[in-house]
Amino acid sequence: MIKRFLLLLVCVMVFCCGCANMGKLKNDIVANTLEIATNRGKLIVGVKTDTFPFGYINENGEYAGYDIDLAKLIATDIFGKPDKVEFVPVTASDRMMKLYSGEIDMIIATMSITPSRLKLLDFSDPYYIAGQALLVNTGSDIKGIRDLEGKKAITVFGSTSEKSLRMAVPNAGIIGYKTYDEAYKALKAKKADAIVSDDSILIGLSLKDASVTLLPKRYSREPYAIAFRKGRESEDIIRVVNRIIEESVRYGKLHELQRKHGINNYQ
Ligand code: GLU
Repeated sequence: MIKRFLLLLVCVMVFCCGCANMGKLKNDIVANTLEIATNRGKLIVGVKTDTFPFGYINENGEYAGYDIDLAKLIATDIFGKPDKVEFVPVTASDRMMKLYSGEIDMIIATMSITPSRLKLLDFSDPYYIAGQALLVNTGSDIKGIRDLEGKKAITVFGSTSEKSLRMAVPNAGIIGYKTYDEAYKALKAKKADAIVSDDSILIGLSLKDASVTLLPKRYSREPYAIAFRKGRESEDIIRVVNRIIEESVRYGKLHELQRKHGINNYQ
């Protein structure tokens, strides 16, 4: 009887040890974005190429902008060098797909935190606050979002403005484009009466072009943050990124970058 009991005890112990090891193994094989990037020796970041001054290609054919500089700041902190980052172009409509396919480690692309996105993504702390506005052809009768009733407005697929436009002016016709370049060309060709998007992006389109005007009113609060795949794999990198953002705010680095790009409105 005692023998049988001892045998049973040994079996239970062996089983428990096995479970503990399996648990450990399970912990070990959870992907860890920070670890993967560190082993690779560089970050891979999804950025815009059509949203001056956040993410664009400059006259030398290089990635440039506030979002790009933020990525370089993170690379400098992690790897000691700003060039330890590979940029992958994304649009508002394909950025989440590129993140979840593993093509990129994170999205730094004028992306607002929203309740619906929080169900699918993990975000860093905000690094910029934008607000939705209207860009119109100069001299247009459109003076505010209500004037778009029965008119046509342009939005970019996958961006937050389509939803807010539908809610504010349900009977406005909406024309969607994939990029801000296409949206801008369509406005100038008078295919619609306004572009509805973030002021930060519309300012970039209006700066060098007197034939379009950014209207003064803002219709939403858009906190820009860095987006990651949801879950444990992103915990370590988000902790690092939040520390970098916090230190950059505290020591004035983020303000300095905003001044450099002419967007110094961080709240
Ligand atoms: N911030 C808005 C968004 O996340 C618009 C900018 C964009 O198209 O990325 O949808």
